Amino acid sequence: IQLAVREAQRLSGNSAVVFTPHLMADQQERLQLEARLSQALDRGEFELFYQAQCDLHTGRLAGFEALLRWRAADGLVGPDRFIPVAEDSGLIVPIGRWVLLQACRQASAWHERARALGGPLPVMAINISPRQFQHPDFMTTVREVLKATSVDPRQIELEITEGAVMDHADATIAKMAELRELGLHLAIDDFGTGYSSLAYLKRFPIDRLKIDRSFVRDLGVDAQGAAIARAMIQLAHSLDMTVVAEGVEEEAQADCLRTWGCDLMQGYLYARPLPVGEATALLDAKLGAALHDS
Ligand code: C2E
Ligand code: MG
Ligand code: MG
Ligand code: MG
Repeated sequence: IQLAVREAQRLSGNSAVVFTPHLMADQQERLQLEARLSQALDRGEFELFYQAQCDLHTGRLAGFEALLRWRAADGLVGPDRFIPVAEDSGLIVPIGRWVLLQACRQASAWHERARALGGPLPVMAINISPRQFQHPDFMTTVREVLKATSVDPRQIELEITEGAVMDHADATIAKMAELRELGLHLAIDDFGTGYSSLAYLKRFPIDRLKIDRSFVRDLGVDAQGAAIARAMIQLAHSLDMTVVAEGVEEEAQADCLRTWGCDLMQGYLYARPLPVGEATALLDAKLGAALHDS
């Protein structure tokens, strides 16, 4: 309880915290989660799911986004519950390293499969948290993972949020330039949700914008929703970036996005996040179908 009080004070930045039972329960739950999370790597409880991205114009599978899952003793825990805890506690650094290694290994294996079937290089998009990106060892980790997995770096796309790039702008630009020199691609995730100035877009070497699914959801709601999604696509293209729309659930949304020139889509309409075996089967099926078409 002492620990929980101190934690509550730290979080609120206030030494005179009103200590309610509700707060105590929250804090206790959080500390327990953190304790279990700190052992999850050693216990091999993490697993990557993969969600396919589809080229809106050719209809072909373009690649996958790696999405972390935690198979805890009491069931599968989604990242929205544990990533914030991992981020606050610093556990995201070793966890993120594991994700990077695992996803690059998988990308390399899929590259072999695609090559054997004469298909294009499937992209692997990997989420990088702000704290992980800003960690002094990040570049070393990336280099080590590339070497250990001998993945083609052009296959890898790192997804970074606006929050991660807005702070420490000069250091960030330098780091991004280094990543691109290695051959990697960079995407801004959840674009439009970060309350940041758009000016950063021209300063940072970014290849792709991912339109957040809240905008995709609003796209069919009214004229304003449509105007915003459309403007985001135009903005990306005028800055020589490609665009992925997140959270596409309906055919009508895909049709609008295609008409407006959006490059890729990702969402339940095309595929859900899948365990590795099912994602591999999807890749094989799509590669086979593409082979059949041509
Ligand atoms: P994100 O990177 O924006 O990932 C997209 C999220 O949208 C995923 O949630 C995905 O399952 C969900 N999604 C995809 N299509 C649809 C759809 O059509 N409808 C709806 N309603 N949702 C859809 P998920 O897997 O729960 O991940 C949530 C967030 O957790 C991710 O958002 C990302 O910010 C974070 N995350 C996931 N894996 C990692 C990781 O390995 N490292 C880091 N740092 N963050 C991760
Ligand atoms: Mg993402
Ligand atoms: Mg996203
Ligand atoms: Mg999102």
